[in-house]
Amino acid sequence: MNLGSVIFLLILSSALSLFVGVVAWRRPLAPGSRPFAILMFAVTWWTILYALEWLLPGMEQKLWAARLEYLGIVLVPGAWLLFTLRQAGFNRRVPNLFAAALVLAAILSLLAIATNDWHRLFYIQVQLDTNTPYPMLDIEYGPLFYALIAYTYLLLLAGALLLGWRFIRASGDHRWQAAVVLLSAFPPWIGSFLYLTGVQPLPHLDLTTFGLALTGILNMAALFRFRFLDLVPVARDMVIENLADGIIVLDPLDRVVDANPTARRLLSVTPAAIVGRAVTEVLAARPDLLQQYQQASVPARPDAVAPGSVSLPVIPTFTHEVRLTPLLNMRQQIRGRVLVIHDISERRRLASLYTTLFAMTRTTDLSSLLKLLVEQATNLLDASSGDLYLCQPGSRQLQCLVSYRTEQDFTGLVLPFGEGVAGMVAATAKPLIVNDYPAWEHRAAAYASEHSFRAAMGAPLLWQGQATGVINVMRSADQAGFTDFDVQTLTIFASQAAVVVENARLLDTTQHYASELEQRVSERTAALRAANIKLQELDTMKNEFVSNISHELRTPLANIKLYLRLLETGRAEKQPQYLATLHKESALLQTLIEDLLDLSRLDMKKAPANLATADLNELVQSWVNHRAGLIAERGHRWETDLQPDLPTVNADAHRLIQVLTNLLTNAIYYTPPGGLIQIITRRQVDDDKPWVTLSVRDNGPGISAEEQAAVFGRFFRGAAGRASQRPGTGLGLAICQEIAQIHGGRLTLESSVGHGSTFTFWLPA
Ligand code: ADP
Repeated sequence: MNLGSVIFLLILSSALSLFVGVVAWRRPLAPGSRPFAILMFAVTWWTILYALEWLLPGMEQKLWAARLEYLGIVLVPGAWLLFTLRQAGFNRRVPNLFAAALVLAAILSLLAIATNDWHRLFYIQVQLDTNTPYPMLDIEYGPLFYALIAYTYLLLLAGALLLGWRFIRASGDHRWQAAVVLLSAFPPWIGSFLYLTGVQPLPHLDLTTFGLALTGILNMAALFRFRFLDLVPVARDMVIENLADGIIVLDPLDRVVDANPTARRLLSVTPAAIVGRAVTEVLAARPDLLQQYQQASVPARPDAVAPGSVSLPVIPTFTHEVRLTPLLNMRQQIRGRVLVIHDISERRRLASLYTTLFAMTRTTDLSSLLKLLVEQATNLLDASSGDLYLCQPGSRQLQCLVSYRTEQDFTGLVLPFGEGVAGMVAATAKPLIVNDYPAWEHRAAAYASEHSFRAAMGAPLLWQGQATGVINVMRSADQAGFTDFDVQTLTIFASQAAVVVENARLLDTTQHYASELEQRVSERTAALRAANIKLQELDTMKNEFVSNISHELRTPLANIKLYLRLLETGRAEKQPQYLATLHKESALLQTLIEDLLDLSRLDMKKAPANLATADLNELVQSWVNHRAGLIAERGHRWETDLQPDLPTVNADAHRLIQVLTNLLTNAIYYTPPGGLIQIITRRQVDDDKPWVTLSVRDNGPGISAEEQAAVFGRFFRGAAGRASQRPGTGLGLAICQEIAQIHGGRLTLESSVGHGSTFTFWLPA
């Protein structure tokens, strides 16, 4: 073998180790990749300088290269040990002291070489051996060199043992991988062995660097063939360590082999206290998990849902779900089981949220709905108390409508926007968490005395972008504060609740309107029914009136016809008598028709036609002056009793004279001759109102109680009327009463049979 081949091999070897080093360096997460890369870089350096040692001609130059080689050599044992430690599964950080010891060993070795000229304890003597085909250094080594060699081989051996240990523990695919990595420990030994025994192609050629390059290549093979430096196992370790699910690995006898931090936290045990124990014993601390573990082998059947029915999610009874998966080896034999404990509290809460919201849509009565809302929100969020506020339309205030399990009943409390959690939530229309309420600057004054809760959370009831109310939940001091998930849950709850509340409100208003409408309709119906009855009465009255008129008209007309015939056929001397009767009957007919016309005119009027200031005393006086003869003619006495300072009235004087005439005519005709007729005016107060009255009193026959009820009726003629032989129409008093009414007054009668009658006409003063 010539020098060229040696140099070529050395360069090839250094290139290989450099390549392996770079590949390893770029996989920082693979176990031991960094120390392995450093090992390879050190070997590269060593090999290159070793090649230089061969190439350079002089002894001094060769020695210079040989010394520089140690910059790489001293790194080899430490890097190898660290690599093998990682490979064997020691994933923790290397203790500082240990790392410092390794670095110190390297520095000491370098110092020993650098200072050799003084102590000569490393190289005792160096010569150039020119007996060989290529001159090479012939070195007599000192004790420090052997110490370094011993140290190096000790660490290489320790590393090899670690790999051996790993190989024994490995199983399946990993076993092959471990075997190759273990194999990679041997080439340096073989290289050194050959060098030391001299069984080699060239004298002085140290094969250790080739061996180390071979170590690198074998590990590369393990890398590509078995992916030992790959991410997967590391990533898997990291994922399992940091998983939110608890993982427990069981051996075939169901004893715990391993448990990740989540599982240990759930069961409150230390790693030492869990490994090797029976799983049932470990799970005893959590009966819910134990029960599920025992049932896990029985596959669950999905709940049957009737077609067409609404399927509500089944609310899980547990907060954690347990799953068991068998671990099979390549021959499908069960080598153990993995128990996964999955936190399902979020799923549980969402299921119960959904069920709650569904139940709410069935409650339409507003006040019980609001109560239900607060109760459900409090339970859903594991809160100790809760309350609900609704915004008062038009004002920036809210009022508490429901107070649930609070120490003090806040129902009716009014808060301005911005005060307390409810006020803040209403003002911003955003949810809010206050986990230290007693120390919160915006706390409500009314709640300040309430120390039963520590954390409070509120979410707005939003309707068309506006906060219509706020739902609050509180937790006591011994409970945990609210989390983001809590606020999300409450927000979803509140957004759905807002819709349900609005629906209930709408229904409430609609029902209110409906009952109001019903009330109005029934009132109107009653009014219409009454009007109808009145109309029927009026109709009957009208029919009676028409038949009365016909009757009243027929009598004088029949008389007129009779006397006209008598006039034609009767005796001539009777003619003046017939003519007198004809005059009387036609006069009666005329009076009757005039009275009827008058009445119908009065019926149609709501107020007197010619209103003017009238003095009743004056009217009476002028009537008496004009008609005194009529009274005297019938042989009556008469008196006037007129109130001095009588207030004037606003009235139709013509109508007042008509009343006076009617009343006095009746008194004159129905009172037997010699009677006393009085005309009295008065100022009176009745029903707290001032009145002016005109009374016509006689001491005639009087009117019986039965007749008094009918005397103002149309066409009514009483006993006195009939007895008087005077042709009357029975319309006089009816006309007087109409006149009184259109003046805002009335006509009253006091009478007793045998003592006379007093008709009083009342006018507002
Ligand atoms: P008329 O006088 O045409 O009958 P009125 O309406 O004026 O019609 O009177 C109705 C009836 O009232 C009379 O028929 C009579 O029986 C009774 N009456 C009216 N005034 C008196 C009176 N001063 N004394 C007794 N009866 C009276």
